[in-house]
Parts: sequence; C-alpha cells; structure tokens
Amino acid sequence: MRWTNSRTSPGQVPVPALAVVLLLLVGGCLSSNRVPADRSSRVSTPVSSQSTTASSLPTAWQPTHSAHAWRYIVLHHTASESDSVESIHAAHLKRTTDGRPWLGIGYHFVIGNGKGMADGAIAPTFRWRQQIHGAHAGHADYNNNGIGIALVGNFEKKPPTPAQLASVGRLIRILQTTYHVPTAGIVGHGDVKKTACPGRLFPLSQLKRQAYRARGGVI
Ligand SMILES: [Zn+2]
Repeated sequence: MRWTNSRTSPGQVPVPALAVVLLLLVGGCLSSNRVPADRSSRVSTPVSSQSTTASSLPTAWQPTHSAHAWRYIVLHHTASESDSVESIHAAHLKRTTDGRPWLGIGYHFVIGNGKGMADGAIAPTFRWRQQIHGAHAGHADYNNNGIGIALVGNFEKKPPTPAQLASVGRLIRILQTTYHVPTAGIVGHGDVKKTACPGRLFPLSQLKRQAYRARGGVI
C-alpha cells in the first residue's frame, strides 16, 4: 500500500490509497475440489525498518511486511516427484477458480528434495515476505493464521530425505521461537482437512515431539 498521496497539489482532492481485495478462490492441496477463498480480512503493511523484523530469522527469510500473529504451522507434501517455488508458483498462476486467477503459490515456505530445488533447501515465497494469508489448508482459520510449509515429494510413496527432515525441524524451531507458535499449533494438512497430505510416511508425530522437547516441554 502506498502512502505518498498526502502530497497533493493545491485544489487537488487527496485520494486515499485503496486496498484492493481480490476475491480469488483457490484450493488446499492440488487435488482439492472444494476450494476455499484465497483472501483475507487483514491487510499486511510494509515494514519501514528492519528493526521491526525478527532478528532471529535468517536474512533471506526476513519478511518485507510487518509480522502477522501466526498461530499454526501447517505441514504439506507437494505430492510430486520434483518441484520448486518457481514451478509451483507458475502452475498456480495458471489456475482459476470460477474464472478468477489465483494469486500464485499457496504456501509460505517450500523445502526442496534435490529435484527442482537443492535437497533440504528452505525457500520462502511471496506470501511469507508479505506476511499474507496462505492458500493451502482448505480451512479459513488455518489459511489466515497458519504458516504453510510444503516439502517437495510424495510421502505416500517414500519418506522425506534426511536433509528435508533436518530443514523442516530447523524451520519449525526458528518459526516457533520467533513467532511464538504453540507446539499444539503444529499440524499436518490431514489434521484440518480430509486429505492424505502430508502423506503416511511423513513423520509428523516425531516432529511434534522434537518441537515439544525443543520448547522445554511447552505445549
Ligand atoms: Zn496439503
């Protein structure tokens, strides 16, 4: 949002910046038929200084907008052999729901598996940088207040790579520390919607236990 309209010439009527709400409908997992809206009631605001951002976050993950009060971390698999932020973003940009285009990749972070992205690489998306709602959960509260993390792979067929597991553990730990997401807020997609995502071979309970211990037993 721009705030530069206050400098108007004499006689000119100041025009307030307009927040454009895009009523876009997108799905949760790619196979979803019943789709939630890709929209949010809140508007993110740009940060004026890096001092307002979380210092514990690696520089590459620093948002460009002020932090949202995240309450959940929602874990997904991409259900694909290979992928990247770019390939998922490109695919989602081509999608429409009821004739309306999607904003783009629905997740906040993607973790690569060595096919399309480096194995274990953690990449934030535009939704994370702008601290806006996701389009991944198929559930309004979890889309609005959940950080969507997708690991590339189909974990119904084979488990995540060791590098992916190390990275998702690290990402969860950093996000929990920085945004005070409760351990009870760490969920798999299948916990909030009827879906196989993130796959039967994804060690969700192990990650939850790990997070629980890392937080000193704090739920
Ligand atoms: Zn999912």
